[in-house]
Amino acid sequence: MTHLSETLDSAAFTARLRQAAEHIQSRTDWLSQLDAAVGDGDHGVTMGRVCEAILTTLAAPPADDLAALCGAVGWAVMCTDGGSTSPLFGSFLTGIGDGLTPPTPLTTMALARAFDAGLTNLRRQTSAKPGDKTMVDALVPAVAALQRAATDGATIATALSAAATAAAAGAEATRPLKAAFGRARNLGERTVGHLDPGAASVALFFEGFAQ
Ligand SMILES: [Mg+2]
Repeated sequence: MTHLSETLDSAAFTARLRQAAEHIQSRTDWLSQLDAAVGDGDHGVTMGRVCEAILTTLAAPPADDLAALCGAVGWAVMCTDGGSTSPLFGSFLTGIGDGLTPPTPLTTMALARAFDAGLTNLRRQTSAKPGDKTMVDALVPAVAALQRAATDGATIATALSAAATAAAAGAEATRPLKAAFGRARNLGERTVGHLDPGAASVALFFEGFAQ
């Protein structure tokens, strides 16, 4: 899909959110393989549930207003059974909803602000910092890249592409790290050499959203 417009309306935003969820769903086996190396191997199943909640909510939107819709999607995600993953992804999405002011159509700057609000809300749920080998390692650089692109006056497509590249690099950078957080921390040195599954999910999210 090519998006050459300078703003993003509700329909285009939800289409991108759907693409992100479908993209993650297409890689759940891979996510479980990653988690099997550093955790209990359930991350793909969990992300499958998270994406199902996103897609089910988008299929019968409970609100016309994009901010309210993002809030509803986030709550649906939070209510799924998914250990620490669903509250984190859910708070990211509800935070995006909170940050969508004014709602639509979104400029690159408004989109960057909304994603930053999502990150802020997620970081209220976890004290994980960049370098701890968690999803934060992909999310922080992705949001920073989006903000940088917005400041530079980039189009939405260019900014999202930069965010996806930064998220992928952030996920890749978790490979040499030793897990310092969550359940994977117990495995310590054994996590070195493996991608963090949560960071990989965030990278897939941005890759799908940017398509
Ligand atoms: Mg797990």
